[in-house]
Order: sequence, then C-alpha cells, then structure tokens
Amino acid sequence: MMKKKVLFVASECTPFAKTGGLADVIGSLPPVLNQLDDIETRVILPLYRSILTNWRKQLVKVTSFDVSVGWRKQPTSLYIMRFDQVTYYFIENEYYFSRDDVYGYEDDGERFVYFCEAVISSLPYMNFQPNIIHAHDWQASLSLLFNKVYSNTPKMKSVLTIHNLKYQGIMLRESYHDLFRLDDEHIAGMEWHGLLNCLKAGIYHADKITTVSPTYAEEIKTPYYGEGLFKCLQDRSKDLSGILNGIDTKSYHPKTDQSIRFKYQYSSSRKRLNKLYIQHKFQMEIDPDKPMYVMITRFVEQKGLHLIERILDQFLSEEDVQFIVLGTGEYHFEHFFYQMEQQHKGKMIAYLQFNEKLARQLYAAGDFFVMPSKFEPCGLAQLIALQYNAVPIVRETGGLKDTIVPYNEYTHAGNGFSFSHYNAHDLLAVLRYSLTIFKDQDKWYPLFRNVTKSSFSWELSRDQYVKIYDQILGVGPSNVRSDKTWQV
Ligand code: ADP
Repeated sequence: MMKKKVLFVASECTPFAKTGGLADVIGSLPPVLNQLDDIETRVILPLYRSILTNWRKQLVKVTSFDVSVGWRKQPTSLYIMRFDQVTYYFIENEYYFSRDDVYGYEDDGERFVYFCEAVISSLPYMNFQPNIIHAHDWQASLSLLFNKVYSNTPKMKSVLTIHNLKYQGIMLRESYHDLFRLDDEHIAGMEWHGLLNCLKAGIYHADKITTVSPTYAEEIKTPYYGEGLFKCLQDRSKDLSGILNGIDTKSYHPKTDQSIRFKYQYSSSRKRLNKLYIQHKFQMEIDPDKPMYVMITRFVEQKGLHLIERILDQFLSEEDVQFIVLGTGEYHFEHFFYQMEQQHKGKMIAYLQFNEKLARQLYAAGDFFVMPSKFEPCGLAQLIALQYNAVPIVRETGGLKDTIVPYNEYTHAGNGFSFSHYNAHDLLAVLRYSLTIFKDQDKWYPLFRNVTKSSFSWELSRDQYVKIYDQILGVGPSNVRSDKTWQV
C-alpha cells in the first residue's frame, strides 16, 4: 500500500491557537496518526499574531512568495516547525493574521479565501508531496475547491471534516468576482440562497466527508439539524460518515496534569481535595460533601444556555448546591450569569474568561459537568469531564448521545445523566435526580466507578480515518453529485 501523506488544513490547533474543540482535535489526532508506519500527517495553519509572539524562536522561515486573492497580490511567508512528532506549516501575512483574535472580523471570509489560496500555493515549497488533503471546517473548505480546479497543482484526494455545521463562511455573491480567480462554472457548488457558502464548496468537492460523531452524521441530513445544507448532505450520503473524536488522554490526565493542585486517579477522596481548593479560591462554603456543578463553555445558543437561563435561579434557590460557570461569549449570557452570581452569592460563581488552567482545575473539582446542548457535533468537554471523573449531565444529541449512557440506578450501568427533549424543566428534573443519586452512596459509587472507567482516547477513531484514507487512495473518483440538489 502506498504511503499516505496527509496534509491537515485548519484554522486552529493546540497548543498554538484555540477557541474551541476544533483546536483540540487538530492538536491531538496527527500525533496518533503519525505513530503508524505507513502514514505521515502534517498540519498547515495561519500564523496568528499570538503564535508569532509565543513561538518565534522555534519557527523557521521556508520561503516568501505572493498569493493571489482575486486581483490582489498578498505577500506571504511560509514557516515550518517540528513539535511533538508532527511537522507544522504556518502561513504568514500581516494584513490578514496579525490581529488580536482568531475570528470575529468583518473580513473573515476574505481572510480564509486567502488562507486556502496560500495553502495551495505553498505546496511546491514544502518538501512534502501530500496525496491527501484533509480540510477541517469552513475556514479550510476552499482548499478542496482550489485543489480541484487549479491545473498547475498536483491533485490530491480530499477529505472534509465538519466539526460544526452551523458555521459555514457565508459571503456576498459579489465576492466571487472580487476574491476568486475562477470561471463562473465553479459557482454552482458554492452558491447558496444568492450568497456564497464556503462549507458548501467543501461538501461539494470533497471525495469523502466526515463529521465528528455517528449520531451527528445522521442528524445533519435532517432539516432541524441540517442548517440549510441537509439536502446537499443527503446527496453526499454515501460518502458521509461519523467518526467520534477522541481526546489527548496524556495531556488531560488528573494523575499528571500540572494545572491541578491535587493529582489523583480513581480516588474520589483525593479528587475532593480539588473541590476544597476551588471552594477556598472562590470563597465559597468549604465542604467536601457539597455537590459542585460545573459548566465550561462558549456562551452561544448551541450550548443549551437558554435552558439554563430558565431554571438556574430556581435550582439554586431550592437546592443546597454550588454552581460554577467558566466561559465567554454573547453578552446576553455573560450578563445573565453575572446576575446569578450576584443573586446567589457564595453558591454561584461566574468566571467570564477563557482560561485553560482554571478549566482543568474545575474539571478536577466538579462532581458534575453540565452540558445541555441544543446540538453537539461531538463535544469534547464531556469527554474531558469523564477523564477528570466529573459526571456529565447532557442532552441526548450528537456526540453527547454517543458517549454518555444515562445511569440506571437498578443495574448500575451508565456514565452520566441525560434528557431528551430540549426543554428546561426536563433539564431541571435531571439536575434534581442527579442530586438524589449523589446523596445515596450505594448508587453514587457505582456511577463514579463507571465514570473512572470511561475513556475516549484516539486509537479507535484513528483507525477509522485510516480506513477512509485507504478507500480514497484505492478507488477512482467519488460519487457523482446530482446537480439539481445543489441549486439553492
Ligand atoms: P466547542 O468546540 O463547540 O466549543 P467542545 O466541547 O468540542 O465545544 O470543546 C470545547 C473546548 O474548549 C474544551 O476543551 C473546553 O474545555 C474548552 N473551553 C471552552 N470554554 C472555555 C473557557 N472559557 N476557558 C477554557 N477552556 C474552555
């Protein structure tokens, strides 16, 4: 079998730049793929200002060249760095990437058109000829289009992984002639309700499409979860599959994690020392038996925060619990959690930051991890929670459904709590139920034991990716698209 040379194209990756779970995946999957003899994975990323600042010494410049973005010529430098068994490339352009944040700019569409152009333009300088290009999310999707249509580049087989269908990279239709250098024939795979849709282009051009859990792979073919692209995904159904994410179980391990105060493994009494540490840190009542609920999340509707809004005040008023939220995002939710903290002083903490170290301390401190998502492609936070033995409380959707089995107090099977309908009072009921289990040692300990045994490392999922790579290298072109479906 031919050696597989895979180029990951992505917009974030730990430890360089992170806004969410995508970064964890891009940081942890390539090292485990590279443990196999017949595969080499490299990763290409934008060189954001923070990466240049923090990694300047390790970065080596390969070359400089110009990249076309429509009529513009953008000066570009390609950098290389070896880190943790993986070779990383970085695309530098001051105008697009030397900014404070990773995303959230008016010209995000243009920034990632540029990035994808730059990825393809970098190929001759890499000293590495990938036979597979593996794009992640909308920011990388256009690299699959450019791979296909530019005649002067070596053609690679292609995979698109959708980490979150909600974010699609929508641009005005007029951008097509402004930002692209393509004939009109290529617009069909990209046009969407009179606009341009980067993710749609990826779905159209990829040989294989994966998403990050089997349940989400089914859900996104329905109108409710399909974010306006469900028909296109139905059309590509034969090439679409769900592969569950793993986590880096070395980095996220309570026995060795340098961020946490009291290291532990399997021991609930040692874990509770971390709870005492957090109670002390936030001036909460110090009591190892007080149930502590934790949320660590982006503040967006997806994460089920409207449900929390409806019931948190009642839950905190009626129950003797502690609740800590770590997150940032939409102002509306930040304000809500701040208000809750004011109203429930000592019981409720809202820490409105992105803070990796505190996140790890909270996973270690919490008895419960609350994640009532409206939809959840895979979800890593619940997997990290399991790893630190915080019992997940989730809504049965996407990857949450595939990883959390509701606890059965009679058979003692299960590793968490769950509810099905997107309904605040169903969430409240399951929160209350979790409390009754917590208070009953005969029921709590079997659950805790199950949680300590749940682990989602990458090994299983890695083999599924390898299988897909083998399939696309071994066969001809992927399924034909039925053109009618794509005209939306
Ligand atoms: P998503 O990618 O949709 O944000 P995931 O559950 O897949 O959700 O991944 C979220 C990741 O981001 C986890 O590693 C989680 O610990 C981390 N995270 C989210 N919010 C914060 C925060 N405020 N501070 C630190 N880490 C955070």
